[in-house]
Amino acid sequence: MDKFEVLNRYFGYGMFRQGQEELIDAILEGRDVMGIMPTGAGKSVCFQVPALMLEGITLVISPLISLMKDQVNALTQLGIKSAYINASLSEKQQNTVYAGARAGQYKIIYVAPERLLTPAFTDFCSKVKISMLCIDEAHCVSHWGHDFRTAYLDISTFISSLDERPVVTAFTATATQRVRDDIEALIGLENPLRVVTGFDRENLYFEVVQPKIKLVALRRYLDLYSGRSGIVYCSSRKTVDELYETLRKEKYSVTRYHAGLTKQERRINQDLFIGDEKEIIIATNAFGMGIDKSNVSFVIHYNMPGDIESYYQEAGRAGRDGADADCVLLYGAGDIRMQKYFIDNPEENPSLSDEEIETLRQLRLQKLEKMIYYSTKASCLRNYILNYFGERTKGKCNSCSGCNGNEMSIDVTVPAQKIFSCIKRVRESENKRVILDILKGNETEYILSKKYNLLKTFGTMSDSAESEIEKHIDHFIRYAYISEKRTGSLYLEEKCSDILWKGKRVRKFAEKSEKTAAGTSQDVDIRLLLKLKTLRKLLANKSGVPDYSVLTDYALVKIAAEKPKNMEQLRKIEGISEHKLNKFGAVFLKEINRHCGENIEKN
Ligand code: ADP
Repeated sequence: MDKFEVLNRYFGYGMFRQGQEELIDAILEGRDVMGIMPTGAGKSVCFQVPALMLEGITLVISPLISLMKDQVNALTQLGIKSAYINASLSEKQQNTVYAGARAGQYKIIYVAPERLLTPAFTDFCSKVKISMLCIDEAHCVSHWGHDFRTAYLDISTFISSLDERPVVTAFTATATQRVRDDIEALIGLENPLRVVTGFDRENLYFEVVQPKIKLVALRRYLDLYSGRSGIVYCSSRKTVDELYETLRKEKYSVTRYHAGLTKQERRINQDLFIGDEKEIIIATNAFGMGIDKSNVSFVIHYNMPGDIESYYQEAGRAGRDGADADCVLLYGAGDIRMQKYFIDNPEENPSLSDEEIETLRQLRLQKLEKMIYYSTKASCLRNYILNYFGERTKGKCNSCSGCNGNEMSIDVTVPAQKIFSCIKRVRESENKRVILDILKGNETEYILSKKYNLLKTFGTMSDSAESEIEKHIDHFIRYAYISEKRTGSLYLEEKCSDILWKGKRVRKFAEKSEKTAAGTSQDVDIRLLLKLKTLRKLLANKSGVPDYSVLTDYALVKIAAEKPKNMEQLRKIEGISEHKLNKFGAVFLKEINRHCGENIEKN
């Protein structure tokens, strides 16, 4: 199989993204590489594709034990044989993995850097062929990076302990020159091909707001994003706990994550979020590294981080599936005090001299200044980030609050109240067309026959264009305020009563109201999308995996827009691999065909 076949068959993608092909070619020729790409750009494919093509095993060094499981699960879903060896496995289980690996069962094995020099592991490595050593999150090697880990310094010793030097590959999203130089030197990359791709993530919208009361602003955002998956980052464990308690009591679908929780709690909470059981995770920066949850559609920073690298890495966890996603920073002056405190009270690092500690402190202060500038003065947020990473930019991006003003979200409480009460007044027994006619005040034969012209809500939105009202209704369907019965009648979900009776407000993004992951809303059959989501949940529950690992939101929206009729057409949808096609294709096609059949009958 060549690299294109591997990409298509295992990952379901038709094309390589920027930088991927170059890196893969070099690896296949046996050359070391360093890939510097922003979070979400697709670094994994760069080492997973060649890993499948090279003989022997690829070792992936990954910083967090708890996350290896997710990556191995994701690979298993794609039909790729992989495993991890870490302390969560008993000795017996570890031996089973070693035996399986020796028998050629796995192409990719994940390990933490701490394991590399242990006797059992070096013994194992002397008995198998390691074709590639891949260092993921390679900035952890450097003191100057934001996630330094001592054990990463053992990597070069490990490489020299191997009988045959494998091709060594390193990947990171951190682009500063100092960190890059450190990675090359400390790992001992030999004449590596360096690929630095563009850092722009076009599907992300950046926004900075300086709210009077952060909690009030946060609630508004969470209401707006209701039904979607998102991360709220805080600078301290205490803030995470406080926010979590407050929002949990208010019945938001939240969980939390920070290093002060027990290992088990962290695992459980992370699984709740990844499995879509909880919509929102409130977390410190301990959460997220290595997580590939593709359907995160917003990342809100409740506190300003200490530097642009951390911010962009954390914010970049949104929109990995290519769907539009939002990155919001809630800035307050108190954030500066907090970051300065962190800088003046750093974690002990015995490998640094006093002089180096002071240099590091100064460096952090400079980085903080840049972060403060981003939060308070940058005229185009995207350009500011890209320039920070050394990229030139032309003109405004028109996709950030710097370019558009801070008016991205609008209050839609009044139209929501009108629409919801109209649906209530017809006892949830009418379809969208009839609801539109009532709100617009159209005196059609049907409306008159049912005496709907006498309802209080008749004509309450007569000032708005019909298309405008329809957009509102579609928006509320998409955000699960309104649902449709099989007959097409609209009915209200429970959370509408808060807006109707309890004075709760609801907002939506002005510019983005028509957009969905794959295009405009008129392309997407919302009812089909909802059916596909239900089916996906069923299939996911059956296999005990998160919904998005059956098919991503992006793929579902594409299907709901394109309505493929057969396996050939379904195969063309981006993100549907051969493995997934074989596993789920037929069931999804059946649902699509049933839906299309129903619609034809109705028309
Ligand atoms: P990173 O490690 O750079 O943060 P990932 O490797 O997790 O990013 O990839 C981000 C997302 O992009 C994943 O959902 C991945 O499947 C997808 N992806 C990777 N390569 C491609 C490609 N060539 N075409 C389409 N999607 C891709």
